[in-house]
Amino acid sequence: MTMLVYLLLDISAPFDTKSLLFGQEDHSFLPEVLFRALIMFVVVLVSLRLLGKRGVKQLSIFELVIILTLGSASGDPMFYKDVGLLPAIFVFLTVVGLYRFVVYLGDKSSRFNRLVEGKPVCLIEDGIFCWGNFQKEPIALDEFLSGLRVLNVSQLGQIRRAYLETSGELSVFYYPDDSVKPGLPILPESLEKCTSQIQKPGMYSCVHCGHTAEIEKTGSQVCHTCGKNKWVEACGDKRIS
Ligand SMILES: [Zn+2]
Repeated sequence: MTMLVYLLLDISAPFDTKSLLFGQEDHSFLPEVLFRALIMFVVVLVSLRLLGKRGVKQLSIFELVIILTLGSASGDPMFYKDVGLLPAIFVFLTVVGLYRFVVYLGDKSSRFNRLVEGKPVCLIEDGIFCWGNFQKEPIALDEFLSGLRVLNVSQLGQIRRAYLETSGELSVFYYPDDSVKPGLPILPESLEKCTSQIQKPGMYSCVHCGHTAEIEKTGSQVCHTCGKNKWVEACGDKRIS
């Protein structure tokens, strides 16, 4: 109860406009902020060039950590009077130096590189999901299927191999048209037609793991790969690119 009264008193207190606009400082600090921001802007720009990356479209986890660290170190000295520029510049030199050193070690040892960057994960092999990898890695299936649709894939049988790269990008290798196999259709309206009761014999794909097989019996059938029982008629469409 007492806490509530204090809280209400606190909210009802009039705003201190000066502290709202300038914090602990006054307007004379603004030109210094301008100067600080200019210096830090140049430091960030030079550091990003020293990192040696041409662009930042796709960052690995390791690179994201570097960028976040630099971002955090560059902000404070711009507007906190009690944070000097030199410590921040020193942070930049250290982080950029460490980055170059780790990249150098990664070039020397692929094991070290895998430790820092992770390794590409095979998600599709011979037209079906690599089920073991899906269980080991936290992969969002919906997002993955959406990524495949963007590449004009309508069913998994069109794909020989697909990898999730360490940068988060998908690499997809296709079967030539005459080798495309029947597989799990991945268009949303096809997936909605899944059933747990097979009505007539035919080629079916497991909605859960992509396992595709000829099913001769009707009724409820369990997938040998994942143990689930949701099926959809396999699709043999070729990829239209
Ligand atoms: Zn399955």
